[in-house]
Amino acid sequence: PQGETFMGTADTNFAQMGTADEFLQAIVRVKLQLGHSYFLPHCSRERTLDSVNPSDPKESIGRVGLADISSVQKAMDCAQEAQKIWGSTPIAIRVNLLQQIADTLQMQRSEWVAWMVLEVGKPIREADAEVSEAIDFCRYYSEMAEGLHPGYTYDVLGETNRYVYQPKGIGVVIAPWNYPLAISVGMITAGLVTGNCVLYKPAEQSAVIGCKISELISNLISDLGLPQGVFQGLPGWGEEIGPELVRHPAVHFITFTGSRQVGCQIYAQAAQMSPGQRHLKRVVAEMGGKNAIIVDASADLDQAVQGVVQSAFGYAGQKCSACARVIVLAAIYEPFLERLRTATQSLTIGCATDPATTIGPVIDATAQERLQKNITLAKQRLTVALESAAPTSGYFVGPVIFTDVPPDDPLAQEELFGPVLAVLRVADFDQALQVANGTDYALTGGLYSRTPSHIHRAMQEYICGNLYINRGITGALVGRQPFGGFRCSGVGSKAGGPDYLLQFVEPKVVTENI
Ligand code: NAP
Repeated sequence: PQGETFMGTADTNFAQMGTADEFLQAIVRVKLQLGHSYFLPHCSRERTLDSVNPSDPKESIGRVGLADISSVQKAMDCAQEAQKIWGSTPIAIRVNLLQQIADTLQMQRSEWVAWMVLEVGKPIREADAEVSEAIDFCRYYSEMAEGLHPGYTYDVLGETNRYVYQPKGIGVVIAPWNYPLAISVGMITAGLVTGNCVLYKPAEQSAVIGCKISELISNLISDLGLPQGVFQGLPGWGEEIGPELVRHPAVHFITFTGSRQVGCQIYAQAAQMSPGQRHLKRVVAEMGGKNAIIVDASADLDQAVQGVVQSAFGYAGQKCSACARVIVLAAIYEPFLERLRTATQSLTIGCATDPATTIGPVIDATAQERLQKNITLAKQRLTVALESAAPTSGYFVGPVIFTDVPPDDPLAQEELFGPVLAVLRVADFDQALQVANGTDYALTGGLYSRTPSHIHRAMQEYICGNLYINRGITGALVGRQPFGGFRCSGVGSKAGGPDYLLQFVEPKVVTENI
């Protein structure tokens, strides 16, 4: 079957001499481009937003002209015209576009890493892995689209029956800042390769990267002689242009990744028919999680501690897949907690530009204040096992571990999206599973165990979209660990998986009596 042999792009080998220098030089080159202004078509030259470096907020990344409600209408008019052409453009050309996006990202790898390090505070190695993921989405969805294209043939004597996939129509992509390149490129290319014109709204905190993605794709589309309406970037305030995009009667689908609150709003708004609308809209929404790792009494504690630390504190806990709860059996609770504390203390908190940094800043002042407020409130009810100091120059929050957190405490129920970990004590494995499954979410889950019956039960009973056994719970690979959840973690099939593109096509059957 299509995709089973997909080979992902290799990340950079940082063990090789001189590799880190290549990225440091790219950061120097990109720094020379900071502070520029970006004005995409239809966007205002007067109303702008300033994006800053979260490691050093005095540093401007760039100024971005904002789209408003009139921009949405103009872009939608262009998309409606372009849809007539793009919808019937041969699959080979659509696939070629994705291949060119992938090749360009590969060629410019170190520059894209530098932009992510500077605009969203992502440490160098993690930004490098994100470039690979973006490339993989392009290549994987190309392969999947080619596989879908022939459809099916169910001919019998005297009758042909052809099952084909048609584009749905105009799609809106609304993206988060935490994977500003990979998630944006994945959602955009899935819509495009299936023959749909796409309007793309990047997150405000990663608006410059959003403009750079828009310029890259728009230039390639123009080189192919296709109309600009095939793909349009619309940076703007989510609460202002988001509902306008979602409600527009010309829109057929919305691909969203972000918070539960906004995802639920979009789901509800998209269900309302607008005047002139002749179809129902599809919503694909990837939302938050409160992901758990269970550590049972038979676990290899060295492995478990390393996996929990990486999963909880990688990119300062700002991954939807991050571990926010570790559920530990009473028999090993104390030794596990002690080792967890020591391992977390050894992390290096600092500027994302420093190759030694393991934890960079959180995204902005609002996130920093929200986290600090929640930590202060949690301290009034709970016991702190560790609170690491953080630099004061940027939006830093030191990792915090709370111990003996009750399963129904807000710290064990609500997504915080930062370097805050709740450790929960349970009596036995039954209780561990019950606690792991006891939230509104079902995104990732993990288990460290050497007990076959526990592993087997987790495979059957753990309620989550992506379950990882005896490894960390972040870093899903395109085509190998298709990614996504259910419950309040999302709706739709998994990104980077074999069913993903089916969400953006309309199957049609043509029967001819011959
Ligand atoms: P967010 O606040 O929900 O923002 C996501 C996008 O929605 C942004 O582009 C935002 O624009 C836009 N938006 C805001 N209000 C809107 C509205 N009323 N209508 C339409 N769009 C609107 O999320 P975030 O802070 O960027 O990302 C963090 C969240 O994403 C976490 O909950 C995380 O778990 C989740 N996430 C999930 C996955 C997954 O695959 N499941 C992956 C990554 C992240 P503005 O930036 O202008 O506000």
